[in-house]
Amino acid sequence: MKVAKFGGSSLADANQFKKVGNIIKDDSKRKIIVVSAPGKRHDHDFKITDLLIQLGDAYLNNEKYKSYYITIMDRFAKIIKELDVTLNLIDEIEEKLTSIMKSDLAYDDMLNCFKAVGEDSSAKILSAYLQSLDITARYVNPKEAGILVNNDANGAQLLPKSYGEIYKLRKEEGVLVIPGFFGYTEDGILATFSRGGSDITGSIVAAGVKAELYENFTDVDSVYSVNPAIIKNPKEIKILTYREMRELSYAGFSVFHDEALIPAFNAKIPVCIKNTNNPSAPGTMIVSDKEQNGKCVVGIASATGFVSIYISKFLMNRELGFGRKLFQILEEEQVSFEHAPSGIDDMTIIIRESQLTGEKENIIVNRFKNELEADTVTVHRDLALIMVVGEGMKETIGMAQTATTALGEAKVNIEMINQGSSEVSMMFGIKANGLHRAIKSLYRAFFEG
Ligand code: ASP
Repeated sequence: MKVAKFGGSSLADANQFKKVGNIIKDDSKRKIIVVSAPGKRHDHDFKITDLLIQLGDAYLNNEKYKSYYITIMDRFAKIIKELDVTLNLIDEIEEKLTSIMKSDLAYDDMLNCFKAVGEDSSAKILSAYLQSLDITARYVNPKEAGILVNNDANGAQLLPKSYGEIYKLRKEEGVLVIPGFFGYTEDGILATFSRGGSDITGSIVAAGVKAELYENFTDVDSVYSVNPAIIKNPKEIKILTYREMRELSYAGFSVFHDEALIPAFNAKIPVCIKNTNNPSAPGTMIVSDKEQNGKCVVGIASATGFVSIYISKFLMNRELGFGRKLFQILEEEQVSFEHAPSGIDDMTIIIRESQLTGEKENIIVNRFKNELEADTVTVHRDLALIMVVGEGMKETIGMAQTATTALGEAKVNIEMINQGSSEVSMMFGIKANGLHRAIKSLYRAFFEG
């Protein structure tokens, strides 16, 4: 049995729904289908989920919301009419939105209900469309599927006991279409995963039913070894491990949600990233282990928007509790850190820029100076991180040298290197304005050299 998840671009309009129908028809093992809300049809279009959030925010703040409502309903009505499925579905979506507006839910809970309308409606439309193709199919609400979650403000988290319920889906006849992106708390309140979370639902369901494969359909033929916006037609990755994917998606590879790796990884379900617009392309496999074929670097990822705080204090290494005090200050200031490479007398803390407002920066710098009695505390903004990723890299001689030589040739100064902790990646912190130069040079060294 396979679980197939279709992302927003795969369901952006009626034509895309038809492609999805064909893909499901093509392989009788595709028994459980997880869907996103309709995404963008072109660059200037809107994602339904974004419109639903705007609608919900406007409604909850007593602002004008009608235009969002109309745009959303028009999108769904067009898809439903062009697929020639029952027009009752249009009324059903309207009724759903009206009932949310009439409910007396708390702000965030109501907003979650608005957000979920996108995937919920996609699933209902797709199951009606599959039926119209004479495929036995039905819509399954996440509550019926047994997807129980907590109501974390940063995105719901699955309750592990869900897996037992989800396993029962195996026994069902026909194709089951489940909306992605949300589950229910034990009190029956709808809660959404973090943005892009339909991938998470797909992975949870695949793990729950112990699928032989979790197929994640999107709009690219494969995961690329580097951002195609920086290098034209980069090499496609045929196979990579969960750990490699995790490192790559951390630093900007957005083709698969990083949280979605966890359920598949724990249950050892292989994942295949495939293209709805070119389903015969083999795609990229994500697996637990793979044979090393000599080429140990699989990809180079990069992300901007980081800040570093450099702290130095003479004899830091001998001071008992220095690290604890430092991290406690960050915790008290509600700032999470990304990396913390250290030397004998110094330490650099890498933080996402979004976490560190100017005001927060002043408070933290002062607390480090006063409470830790640091000799120096300096802050550098506009940092980019580059991750060179590949299993087996640690055991291969000369990797760091190849990378640093490439950065040197690109005239890029390395602000920070971190290879110590990760088995699968080397991380470089550089000034964001040198990023493209750096990536091009690293790509040449590792993939064309
Ligand atoms: N529709 C949701 C979002 O845009 C979830 C998803 O597409 O995976 O974030």
